[in-house]
Amino acid sequence: NRRVVLVSHPKGKPTAENFRIEDAPIPTPGDGELLLETLFLSLDPYMRTRMNGTATYAAALELGDVMVGGTVARVEQSNHPDWKEGDVVVAYSGWQSFAISDGSNLRRVDPDSAPVSTAVGVLGMPGFTAYAGLLEIGQPKAGETVVVAAASGAVGSVVGQIARIKGARAVGIAGGPEKCAFVKDELKFDAVVDHRAPDFAEQLAKACPDGIDVYFENVGGQVLEAVKPLLNNFARIPVCGLMSHYNDAGAGASIDLSLTLFKSLTVRGFLQNEFVERLEPTFLKEAAGWIKDGSLRYREDIVEGLDKAPEAFIGLLDGKNFGKLVVRVAE
Ligand code: NDP
Repeated sequence: NRRVVLVSHPKGKPTAENFRIEDAPIPTPGDGELLLETLFLSLDPYMRTRMNGTATYAAALELGDVMVGGTVARVEQSNHPDWKEGDVVVAYSGWQSFAISDGSNLRRVDPDSAPVSTAVGVLGMPGFTAYAGLLEIGQPKAGETVVVAAASGAVGSVVGQIARIKGARAVGIAGGPEKCAFVKDELKFDAVVDHRAPDFAEQLAKACPDGIDVYFENVGGQVLEAVKPLLNNFARIPVCGLMSHYNDAGAGASIDLSLTLFKSLTVRGFLQNEFVERLEPTFLKEAAGWIKDGSLRYREDIVEGLDKAPEAFIGLLDGKNFGKLVVRVAE
């Protein structure tokens, strides 16, 4: 069983030395258990916060632990009445080729309806995060302006496209000309701004002539600073993630309470699992329909082989990925 374990806590950016790739025997499922073979491993920004050795909203990883992560897996062996060999599921097996499951917290995937990798992407956790955060907290109305950074990525790409489906104006922020062109031309955002441009703040102001009604927060940092003066009264800010702060221990982005008061802002943090039980079935139905009718597009960045996971993950924190980052672990 090939697996990637955490061997030291990163200081700042993670490096290859923080991980060890090792082989262990393939585990045997007991009564009521399944053996899962990982097909795809999802690499997501939250994994960085688990590496610090301090608990956040979830327990920290201990040194020697297998890195955690969502997976698309195939049932190889089943001693469980609800699952049979060959079933494809979304699991949380982590950075390893095989894992044991007791059958709880698995979601069945229909391999005929979409490529199975999308079950950890546009039709999985990141897509759902965009859907729930935007619609429940952002509540975009027709004609309003919605701004989102990391706009070519797993969450941001879906935020902007759903904003447009709801009749709002979507303004994306992305790093570099290639990602910007993709956001504008393929994802059909109304405008896009490169956060690496020296006059980024001015360009953002030009792209939002009527101000900002919904700022879907993915990054913090200088993007948030440029957004603040453009916020309209009653703007909503779903706080989803803070990409630009994950590598610097503790430094936080902030919106001060006077601005919140004077502009009557709603600033609301969320973790997607809060909404799963109530909204996931509707999301899966709606998103599948939007993909079918062409109003929801997606791009995947597929890396070949589990051994490449550390390098790809380090790149994710630097914007080297282009689309939803997944590792193909087995065919
Ligand atoms: P992406 O696929 O969008 O990849 C991350 C992207 O962030 C990079 O490609 C890069 O894009 C951008 N980025 C990195 N550093 C910076 C920076 N300093 N300033 C601006 N942009 C930066 O990742 P996801 O879609 O998976 O995640 C997006 C956000 O959503 C993250 O903050 C993540 O933590 C959060 N999230 C939150 C969840 C929740 O439940 N609250 C659940 C899932 C995700 P570019 O090159 O375009 O800048």
